[in-house]
Amino acid sequence: MNIIIGMGSNQDYRGRNSIEILDYAKEKMCKVRIDIIAESEYFTSLAYPNGSDPVFINSVLLAEYSGSPEELLFELQGIENYFGRVREKRWGKRSCDLDILAINGLVLPSISEFYYWANLKVKEQAMKTPKQLVVPHPRMQDRGFVLKPLMSIFGNWQHPVFEKTVAQMLDSLPEEEKEFVLQIK
Ligand code: AMP
Repeated sequence: MNIIIGMGSNQDYRGRNSIEILDYAKEKMCKVRIDIIAESEYFTSLAYPNGSDPVFINSVLLAEYSGSPEELLFELQGIENYFGRVREKRWGKRSCDLDILAINGLVLPSISEFYYWANLKVKEQAMKTPKQLVVPHPRMQDRGFVLKPLMSIFGNWQHPVFEKTVAQMLDSLPEEEKEFVLQIK
């Protein structure tokens, strides 16, 4: 199945900077049968909600994977853990964050769960993390640091719930969500 993965890092780990961490994370994905088809360049974006945290390096990947969605999440969490990822604070600094943005046209675990997480108020988003895998990633439509890199490799991908392409979702995003997401030259 085709999958889309979002990557982010704003913290060094054991002598590797964020770009080196994400490069190495991609190598590790290949070893667990995540076959990368296309990858965006690296982009920088401001840390949210604390703009004084180090800037993030972000990228997105299109890949082929033959295991189950749960296996995919398990493999990605194994890679995050390798880079010393500690989940101490929601939206805190992180060495390696890997999100499953989409798996084919699947909506998991159900359309009602998807809407619950997609419609969560910002205050609650900071306090709640889904225990189950939610796909498409319930925040991807709100994030310039996801949509801008995705636009560069797969602008006509269509969101299975909102039925909008990446280009359309990016168009509807407020300018302040996009202006500080910049491709690294
Ligand atoms: P975070 O700490 O923000 O990376 O959140 C990780 C938690 O979110 C994990 O416990 C996952 O089970 C859950 N989760 C739900 N949906 C997704 C998704 N689409 N991609 C990655 N993690 C997810």
